[in-house]
Amino acid sequence: MYLMDSYRHKGLRRQLVEVVRAKGITNTLVLDAIGSVPRHLFLDKAFEEQAYKDKALPILANQTISQPYTVAYQTELLDPRPTDKILEIGTGSGYQAAVLSHLCKKIYSIERQEALYKYTSRKLPEIGYEKIRTLYGDGYQGSERFAPFDKILVTAGASFIPPALLEQLKVGGYLVIPFGDKEVKTMLRIIKTDTDSYKEEAYGEFRFVPFLEGIV
Ligand code: SAH
Repeated sequence: MYLMDSYRHKGLRRQLVEVVRAKGITNTLVLDAIGSVPRHLFLDKAFEEQAYKDKALPILANQTISQPYTVAYQTELLDPRPTDKILEIGTGSGYQAAVLSHLCKKIYSIERQEALYKYTSRKLPEIGYEKIRTLYGDGYQGSERFAPFDKILVTAGASFIPPALLEQLKVGGYLVIPFGDKEVKTMLRIIKTDTDSYKEEAYGEFRFVPFLEGIV
């Protein structure tokens, strides 16, 4: 599988990095990670040609792999550090988790759809991403077992902030979550300033598949 990343793919990826940079992403570590992850390997063959366009694409189970700009934007807000233990909600294709895995120590990722969880869990180690621990469950509960986390990233659109996720953050930690009661969500970064206090910052507007409760 490693060998399926060709010079052509690398060239397309360099162009994608420039597109994302031109849209305002400045963190060079984030840009390098986008330049490193072979996005075409996270997609069905049918979409391979489009893998390095800056757009969301369909994956299994009616879900989508996020747009690279959105992935870069969320990653930049999360500000991952090499010592961080990060929880992602919404594994999907595994692409966002792969980008994060270049930038932190350990990444856990939860998916609520069993078929997608199984597919991506098998695929990630095959394409060289062994550092990502995938979990099957409801992201609204976070992961008691592996908490607390330095950072938590939600990659589905929420209409309320799950209390479990706030609890499972370390003091000083960040929760990045697309939030709002409309279809278009506002990107929030919630900083846990003390055991029971939080500071909220609002950023740009984005569209996401919905953050749904329960598992299927
Ligand atoms: N991070 C993914 C984006 C996938 S789209 C990627 O890089 O490809 C969002 C994903 O969130 C979908 O796979 C959806 O099934 C999942 N999801 C929605 N609600 C969830 C929940 N409560 N717990 C865990 N995953 C959830």
